[in-house]
Amino acid sequence: MRKPLIAGNWKMNLNYEQGQALVSGIAKGLAGQPVPDHAEVAVCPPTVYVAAARQWVGDRPIDTGAQNLYHETSGAFTGEVSAAMLRDCGARYVIIGHSERRHTIGHLEDDRMINLKVRAAQDAGLTPILCIGETITERKAGQTMDVLTFQVTAGLVNAKISGPQDLVIAYEPVWAIGTGEVATPEQAQEAHAHVRDQLRKLVGGVADQVRILYGGSMKPDNAPGLLALADIDGGLIGGASLKADAFLGIISAALAANR
Ligand code: PEP
Repeated sequence: MRKPLIAGNWKMNLNYEQGQALVSGIAKGLAGQPVPDHAEVAVCPPTVYVAAARQWVGDRPIDTGAQNLYHETSGAFTGEVSAAMLRDCGARYVIIGHSERRHTIGHLEDDRMINLKVRAAQDAGLTPILCIGETITERKAGQTMDVLTFQVTAGLVNAKISGPQDLVIAYEPVWAIGTGEVATPEQAQEAHAHVRDQLRKLVGGVADQVRILYGGSMKPDNAPGLLALADIDGGLIGGASLKADAFLGIISAALAANR
């Protein structure tokens, strides 16, 4: 049985005080809940707050993650941050290949660079959350499954996958991120099952241990329908992770789905 993971991607939002208040609100809401036994929770603040977030969390059952890294271990890479540095700051997870980095932020990331980042994360003992997903143009052209096959295969070249600690995948249809438009349960399950099949072809039976999260306008009202599906093992949450109540509502749905 895969344990659901609900991870908050704060993107470039919240200052120190707001981040601290949010973590404290989430921690309060988790008191008495079967976390991390029946579901795991993580927050991924902007890089500059990763170390602080680790401290805000203290001994509460919330993991911390980052939103990006650079694949080299050290050197003349002004402004970049290595996987080991994130680990040093207490990160357990790192989001890699988010659609905003693939498609909208200046130096667009390609699958080769994303693969280097996945491997750098693993080498440093971080769990990469590899984001994949089709654009609306690709979906309308009937290319969704081919895009997912390519992104999974290219993203995982020479990656090591021996258990759930080595990899999390997030299926995030680009057209659903931050738009309020959510994939239907049928669209999401079809994509997740396809990704797991591809993973099985690449790494065999261990694919059944890898969590595949859904991301794209997940909210407390649509989370139960998505999290109940066979191949959806949690969520990568943007907008709804910025408010404790909404994030906690999604965590409750994950706990209910894993009862
Ligand atoms: C995300 O940023 O990964 C995301 C899924 O955002 P939102 O939940 O706001 O669509």
